[in-house]
Amino acid sequence: MASPISGSTSFDPQHIRRDFPILTRKVNGRPLVYFDNAATSQTPQVVIDAIVDYYSRYNANIHRGVHTLSQEATDAYEQARIKLQKHFNAAKSYEMIFTSGTTHGINLVASGFAEFLDQGDEIVVSAMEHHSNIVPWQMLCEKTGAVLRVIPMNENGELLVEEYEKILSNRTKLVFCNHISNALGTVNPIAHIIDKAHQVGAAVLIDGAQACPHLRPDVQALDVDFYVASAHKMCGPTGIGVLYGKENWLKKLPPYQGGGEMIEEVTFERTTYAGLPHKFEAGTPNICGGIAFGVAVDYLNEIGFDRIVGYEGELLEYATKALHEIDGLRIYGTSKHKASVISFNLKGVHPYDVGTIVDKLGIAVRTGHHCAQPVMDYYKIPGTVRASFAFYNTFEEVDVLVEAVKKAQQMLT
Ligand SMILES: *Cc1c(COP(=O)(O)O)cnc(C)c1O
Repeated sequence: MASPISGSTSFDPQHIRRDFPILTRKVNGRPLVYFDNAATSQTPQVVIDAIVDYYSRYNANIHRGVHTLSQEATDAYEQARIKLQKHFNAAKSYEMIFTSGTTHGINLVASGFAEFLDQGDEIVVSAMEHHSNIVPWQMLCEKTGAVLRVIPMNENGELLVEEYEKILSNRTKLVFCNHISNALGTVNPIAHIIDKAHQVGAAVLIDGAQACPHLRPDVQALDVDFYVASAHKMCGPTGIGVLYGKENWLKKLPPYQGGGEMIEEVTFERTTYAGLPHKFEAGTPNICGGIAFGVAVDYLNEIGFDRIVGYEGELLEYATKALHEIDGLRIYGTSKHKASVISFNLKGVHPYDVGTIVDKLGIAVRTGHHCAQPVMDYYKIPGTVRASFAFYNTFEEVDVLVEAVKKAQQMLT
């Protein structure tokens, strides 16, 4: 199959690829084709440099020291918070809470929300949630007697918005939904979901882990109450993420963990908590990770999300068409609004076997349930093969995948 002529877009992936040292490595003797971006993205040299620079020049604990290194580290960490504030268009920098990642952010909100729930209150989640967005709510329901309601989806992997509107009532206290599904790639209509939830007085937490590599959410325009993301899916390091919360919610929510940094005054009788954001940042944080997260966000914005999403859309279209031409291949998740994620299976073949064969050919895809078992149950399958594309992938790499899948099919059927 012929690849589109490069230059059909203003985007030059070959130029971009030079920023990512890992992309030059070989796997099983073949050039690495990295299509597991929905699990974690690769790291550009500027982010690697920021990490090396921190540990080489100004590694120190923050907020407590008068010495120069501590002040430099504190400044850089707080600058990163401001970068995130601007990126997400939050009103205040202290509405950006550093977390260890999306899972941590969700658990922080879930655990604090227990105080606001009574027996019979309802929490609404979508049918295509990541496990990290189901388990904390189940635990919260067990603790409080609240009831979990689920927004169903259709065969295309789209949420049934009319069903969602029927579920909402004055018992609904909280709605949780991912912005983009990691298993199917569906872009969910979150502005509408948020608006409808607010009409019944419910708060909304959006899981942006899968969306933030592809778009730039505006938390004020969305009027969302909480929004969470992980740096490692946006060219940053692992172990760092962000929770945006509206100021009034963050003031009401109790702290998640006790420890240093989150207190104002401690006696054995009583502790008063520090103000935002420190109330939610107990203990020594991932200082270097926070700084590197800021650098990753700068890097993505320099490329520009318009160009990123435009180019990834072309990759998605090209790959979807080419994979469709393989007999017996089914793609799961066919919404019109879709990010560059393709979940598929070959008829009569276990996804794991496909993953193993294509790995031998240097291709990294994910196989399994993608932490979204309810989605797999819906389609009555054990899992899928998932290829997820980033802006540093190329049409030629898609060709390599398509040939490898054909080869796997020949070997396995
Ligand atoms: C990756 C992912 C998560 C979990 O993120 P962690 O960084 O592992 O905490 C949650 N939700 C979605 C949609 C994801 O893609």
